[in-house]
Amino acid sequence: MSQLANIPDDSSGTHVAVIGAGFGGISAAAYLAQAGYAVTVYEKNSWVGGRARVLNRDGFRFDMGPSWYWMPAEHDRWFTDMGAKREDYYRIHRVDPSYKVYFGDSLPKEQRNEVTVPADFEGAKALFESYEKGAGEKLEAFIGQAKRKYDFAMSGFIYRNFNSLLNMLNRSVLKNMRQLNLFTTYRGLIERYFTHPYLKKILEFPVVFLGSFAGKTPAVYTLMNYIDFGLGTWYPEGGFGKVVESMQKVAESHGATFVFNAEVTGIRSSGGRAVGISVRHDGKENEIPIDAVVANADYPYVEDQLLDAGSRSLPLEKWDNKTFAPAVLNYYVGFNRKLPSLAHHTFFFDTDWNDHFDAVYGNRRWPADPLFYIHIPSITDPGCAPEGHEAMFILIPCALGLDDTDELREHYFSIVLDRMEKLTGENLRDAIVFRETMSIREFKADYNAYEGTAFGLGQTLFQTAWFRPMNRSKKLINLYFAGHYTVPGTGTTMSMISGKLAAMRIGNEHPHGGPGRGVSPGWR
Ligand SMILES: Cc1cc2nc3c(=O)[nH]c(=O)nc-3n(C[C@H](O)[C@H](O)[C@H](O)COP(=O)(O)OP(=O)(O)OC[C@H]3O[C@@H](n4cnc5c(N)ncnc54)[C@H](O)[C@@H]3O)c2cc1C
Repeated sequence: MSQLANIPDDSSGTHVAVIGAGFGGISAAAYLAQAGYAVTVYEKNSWVGGRARVLNRDGFRFDMGPSWYWMPAEHDRWFTDMGAKREDYYRIHRVDPSYKVYFGDSLPKEQRNEVTVPADFEGAKALFESYEKGAGEKLEAFIGQAKRKYDFAMSGFIYRNFNSLLNMLNRSVLKNMRQLNLFTTYRGLIERYFTHPYLKKILEFPVVFLGSFAGKTPAVYTLMNYIDFGLGTWYPEGGFGKVVESMQKVAESHGATFVFNAEVTGIRSSGGRAVGISVRHDGKENEIPIDAVVANADYPYVEDQLLDAGSRSLPLEKWDNKTFAPAVLNYYVGFNRKLPSLAHHTFFFDTDWNDHFDAVYGNRRWPADPLFYIHIPSITDPGCAPEGHEAMFILIPCALGLDDTDELREHYFSIVLDRMEKLTGENLRDAIVFRETMSIREFKADYNAYEGTAFGLGQTLFQTAWFRPMNRSKKLINLYFAGHYTVPGTGTTMSMISGKLAAMRIGNEHPHGGPGRGVSPGWR
């Protein structure tokens, strides 16, 4: 019998269907199930976690998507909300050094072209001081202002639903407008503090996570630098795969059901409400009645492919004017020896920074000589590779919708290997056991990603809070969204919080009458 037969009957309360088992979907499912809703998650793929997918091959294990575990307290808060403890599911370790950066353009007389950023803040200050007199103290001041922005965002924005513009422009926002630096650029603010090009790039790189670049991003997002230097980079033992598996277990412990290989092919509506979904599972088409839906699948795809024309709040042409976070060209490479010159996280910023960002956000093209990032989790977690081996994930950010051919993937692999060999002095080619790749083609086919985006919608000023696509449809009053296209933003932590925000709205707007633990969940 198909697992779909587990559709709850009326006695189990209001039935919410969640489309997609990414961070946003699992999180929404857990909160709703905890509040007594009958929840079923339908996931088109065979694995939990969506973009946080795992590749196991020949004794190697790769996180194919996220690798930076940031804001650990927010992950812990999710488990606490669920009446659980994160440490009962997985342990986390501070990554130290935080990361290493290779620069190609050492300043005259400056022989160093690689910088290793220590986890310890005093060490980071000393590092900054070694490049620029007074930069140690300035780093303290800069991270101090970033912390104030972070604290403000956490208390004023991140855990809030924005149902009206007034809701956003409250007194506290207006009062703090100046120190939020909404109208100064990220780069502009950094330049008020630092002059050395390495220091400026180290502080600018987190913008890539926002799907933007520093010359165009408001300085309020320097809060990312507090996340980096103040809260630190962590690694979840077992990788991100372990994180999403744990979240699934917690959701199931509250009664949520997960059905894999179950592709939702349509959302049926009537009278301004979603009334059912069509699900393809085990070769059969199933029609499932629902009381509410949380769509975690990519928002533009849901609007364009799952809804009929009259039910779309954001038809495809509206997305074409938005700023998207980049696509990626990724390689997952097994090596038959250790690679001591590299760190857990290493950046290669040895080519023209502005040219690369222009290729991603400006005149879209494949970058001639790309910047790239590598992740070697086996440095921290021996479970990622056989003994004496190393698992390496290489990521090149690129523009959406580019022509993605096998020849290009071969070409760029050769470029990054040449550069890594030159800068590290290691012969890497001879140590490769295998290589797999993933790029725009797979993001479209596997995740229904708009133009193959890896990170969803960019986090620009006018795509934040009230200005971000709403987490409830304007046409169907019981269709909600969770994930990195809606509030509060991009990345695993924000997607996880988006599930909570969608669940809070359902709790308030569609209280259930079933035998649950209350009709209007008040987790915060
Ligand atoms: C290469 C890469 C590196 C990253 N690095 C980091 C990092 O270091 N740190 C960080 O915090 N974030 C990182 N991110 C971003 C982070 O992974 C995402 O923001 C987050 O995982 C998005 O979660 P989500 O729930 O919004 O979407 P998804 O994970 O995409 O989940 C959506 C789910 O919906 C499913 N789906 C789609 N269509 C259907 C359908 N018709 N029926 C049923 N199911 C459907 C998909 O299969 C998918 O499982 C990275 C992302 C990538 C790709």
